[in-house]
Amino acid sequence: MDVHEDIPRLFGTSGIRGKVGEEITLELVMNIGLAISTQLGGKGKVVVGYDSRTSNQMMEKALSAGIIQGGCNVLTLGLAPTPLVGYATNKLQADAGVMITASHNPPQDNGIKVWDSKGMAYKREDEQVIEKIVHEKSFSNASWKEIGRTEDVSSITTSYINDLLAFVDIKPGLKVVVDCANGAASYLSPLVLRKAGCKVLTLNCQPDGFFPGRMPEPSEPNLQELMKIVKATKADLGIAHDGDADRMVAVDDNGQMAEFDALLALISSEIGGCVVTTVDASSCIDLTMKKLGEKVIRTKVGDVYVAEAIEKYKASFGGEPSGTWIHPEFCMCPDGILSALRVIELVQKKGSLSSLLENITSYPTLRGKVNCHKSQKDQIMDGVEKKLPHLFENVEEKISIDGIRIALKDGSWVLIRPSGTEANIRVTLGSKTDEEAQKIMEKCQELIESML
Ligand code: MG
Repeated sequence: MDVHEDIPRLFGTSGIRGKVGEEITLELVMNIGLAISTQLGGKGKVVVGYDSRTSNQMMEKALSAGIIQGGCNVLTLGLAPTPLVGYATNKLQADAGVMITASHNPPQDNGIKVWDSKGMAYKREDEQVIEKIVHEKSFSNASWKEIGRTEDVSSITTSYINDLLAFVDIKPGLKVVVDCANGAASYLSPLVLRKAGCKVLTLNCQPDGFFPGRMPEPSEPNLQELMKIVKATKADLGIAHDGDADRMVAVDDNGQMAEFDALLALISSEIGGCVVTTVDASSCIDLTMKKLGEKVIRTKVGDVYVAEAIEKYKASFGGEPSGTWIHPEFCMCPDGILSALRVIELVQKKGSLSSLLENITSYPTLRGKVNCHKSQKDQIMDGVEKKLPHLFENVEEKISIDGIRIALKDGSWVLIRPSGTEANIRVTLGSKTDEEAQKIMEKCQELIESML
């Protein structure tokens, strides 16, 4: 239950995002800076970094002006991937960190994501405090004697690189093509991989806010060039990041994009122990971890929920199928560069990525939707919650934290969720064969249609 229903919501599932000059104005950005300082009691240190967008310096100056006007000091990283902001916040014992990024959104967008002192994404409660301060304009304004200052802390990058390399055990020799989308990790990710001993070929590794190479979403259509180059150069692996490099996706030695869920299952089984994922991940991870006798914890969609569950269950690893992976022994901030290192480490120890993925059982996934009126969504979801488990005989688990998800004993699964933005209910499911999946889809769509 949202306790601040009367206060306009600024933060979405992953920070504040929108078009620069429209939703994201200078005034808003400065006010967010002021609000963060106010929340911290006008004392403390805030790490600030940004991705490669054209609006990044404007945003950084406005945000920093707000933070120092509110009495806190700004520790400046400059161009930095999100994981470095999380790491620096934790390492420098800062009170908060802010990443200026719109992640994988188009070039005209920008946004803000806030991290706590542990380098963990702000929880909804923390975001609500910021929203309330901005709405009420109840800012703490420092007097001339107490105005904060800014300090360049970009030299922390060296310790980030050293800590990353000490965290993994990689011997030299693998050939890796890295595609950074002209984003925030353009210099850092290839550098780290080279220092780890890989022969690195770079693609789109000049920071550029126009994203001339490809759009920052690491989706299969956007990675065609990377896939071709991996194959043509006989590389062992391709690595692609989104605009701020909290995400990583991999291309195997045949130039095929690794299926998101299968890669997540593979790395989870390698790390072992209790792992966390979101309700929209397929049963692939369950089938894999079950063989090892390990538990899979499911959360709502969003990396902050994954982080919260990792803490609560003391899990060894957590990730979303999008390639946003959290390595809690390193930092609570999702880290696409460390994710890349871990995949490289795995390939080096155990063989080619294509052969490793062949051993992961993954069922075909089907996606469908049923149109409905926005006002009907709640009532339909109530009905789905009651009736969906009765459509099947072999229900093993029902989760209703974010839509309704059921898992069947044979590894089939169904997730029914209302769309956040459109007038429809979405059905995602997986089953052993295409035919079986189609049958389940029909049953689910009939159920939803019967309630319209
Ligand atoms: Mg991102």
